[in-house]
Amino acid sequence: MTATRRARFTSRHARRLIAVDRSLPPVAEHRVHTVVVGGGIAGVSAALLLAERGVRVTLLERGERLGGRLAAWPRTLADGSHQMVGHGFHAFFRQYYNWRNVLRRVDPSLGFLRPVRGYPVISRDWPQEDFGALPGTPPWSLLALMARSPSLRTRQLRHVDGPTSLALLRYSREETYRSFDSISAATFLDRLGMPDRARAMLFDVFAHSFFNRAADMSAAEMIMQFHFYFLRNAEGLGFDAPDDDYETVIWQPLAARLEKLGADIRTGAAVDRIEPGWTVTLAGGQQVHADHVVLAADPRSAREIVAASPGLVRHAPRLAAQMATVRTTAPYVVSRVWADRDVEPGRAVFTSVSREPTLDSVSLFHRAEAGAAQWAHRTHGAVVELHEYAGDPDADADTSARRMWEQLGGLWPETARMRIVDSESRLGDDAPAFPVGSDATRPGVSTDADGLHLAGDWVRMPFPAALMERSAASAALAANAILGRHGIRPLQVYSVPPRGLLIR
Ligand SMILES: Cc1cc2nc3c(=O)[nH]c(=O)nc-3n(C[C@H](O)[C@H](O)[C@H](O)COP(=O)(O)OP(=O)(O)OC[C@H]3O[C@@H](n4cnc5c(N)ncnc54)[C@H](O)[C@@H]3O)c2cc1C
Repeated sequence: MTATRRARFTSRHARRLIAVDRSLPPVAEHRVHTVVVGGGIAGVSAALLLAERGVRVTLLERGERLGGRLAAWPRTLADGSHQMVGHGFHAFFRQYYNWRNVLRRVDPSLGFLRPVRGYPVISRDWPQEDFGALPGTPPWSLLALMARSPSLRTRQLRHVDGPTSLALLRYSREETYRSFDSISAATFLDRLGMPDRARAMLFDVFAHSFFNRAADMSAAEMIMQFHFYFLRNAEGLGFDAPDDDYETVIWQPLAARLEKLGADIRTGAAVDRIEPGWTVTLAGGQQVHADHVVLAADPRSAREIVAASPGLVRHAPRLAAQMATVRTTAPYVVSRVWADRDVEPGRAVFTSVSREPTLDSVSLFHRAEAGAAQWAHRTHGAVVELHEYAGDPDADADTSARRMWEQLGGLWPETARMRIVDSESRLGDDAPAFPVGSDATRPGVSTDADGLHLAGDWVRMPFPAALMERSAASAALAANAILGRHGIRPLQVYSVPPRGLLIR
């Protein structure tokens, strides 16, 4: 098998969604030019998939580097050493078929992704639970969790509502959203009637990791996430993490590959408006003309770009109306701490935290990434990252960071004795909201603007996908729409089984 063919290989569990017509030409036979707006996972994936098919690509990124919410950048610490920092620890789940296929272009064996052992959930009130090392295939994964988890003892489950719990195993794109998009995830969990312990340790933690509060989030979206992450994928809840910072192992190699394919990557290029035809105008007035546009900015920026484009609003009223409904969720805070000593040896690389007022997860970078490991080895210290998802909208990053560190002391007592050498805390408010009822107005990849496509983790999808995978999968759909327009062979697109275990 050649390296190129290996690079296309994906998990044997992945469902192929596209009937690829091999009689179509694999690359563009005439000049087609696409502008991609946004250089995060969605934008870079779309740019790469199109450039490989002979489409001329101009990639416009507002920031100084690629990566969006997965970007990493250098920082000089108080002790004079240099470290890479970023937007936060990311779990690369094994059913991220489309995102992994993009990454295979720069590392065919995905050797830079290392399995993360264990996936504990901790709380002050109950003993630790562990989602790690469950069998992959459903229903064995679910049965093993039920057998293992003290939160799911039969006696405690007698009040669980049968029909509501079956909805989790009967996911379908049409029926689930029709029945459950009009109620909140919190209402659904109330109806489920799980004992408080199971709800705290298994359900609330999971729902919260999607940056949305259960009280505001659509129950349909949460059911889809359960289906995608646990109840229907064959890989279980196992995930991997990069062995070095994301700039080194992901963005530099992807940029180099894009440049080799002739793509024009412009950073520091903020798009102001997009007009049909297609003309993309940058802040400062410079214009780029193209046959197609992929709008792959974060949800708020995408909404603002469309609202600031009068010609586009007139030309595509449906898109304009849908985009006006796109929302971001409550802010998240990420605090990276360089400390003078290590935590207990048994602590996991990534730990979810249940029912603390601020702290939602803890990551140990010095046990995952080479740069952080070198610093910790030299100083005998630790590089700890604390996350708050869907946090207090009135708190600033430093206040949230201080609260998270205090709360960690109540869970991992050894951290109360650690001295902080340096820290960096930031608040982000660019994660998409999935409020109750939002599916009806959420824009999809293709729009009523012929030639404009959307990609990102906020875009309506026809199959289950979330977070990084939603960005990459929507990018693959956008690329296919453009390839299809020019009679170029489409790309294969992958999914977990699109329907629940109990649906034929
Ligand atoms: C703390 C944290 C932890 C996370 N953990 C996980 C995890 O464990 N697993 C997981 O799967 N996902 C995780 N995510 C989510 C993941 O990071 C996102 O789903 C994904 O990175 C989104 O990629 P994107 O390309 O859709 O959007 P973005 O990364 O937001 O990219 C959009 C890009 O558009 C650019 N842009 C905006 N406006 C303009 C403009 N006017 N002109 C030009 N460019 C513009 C932005 O600068 C940005 O680079 C996490 C996110 C955070 C913040």
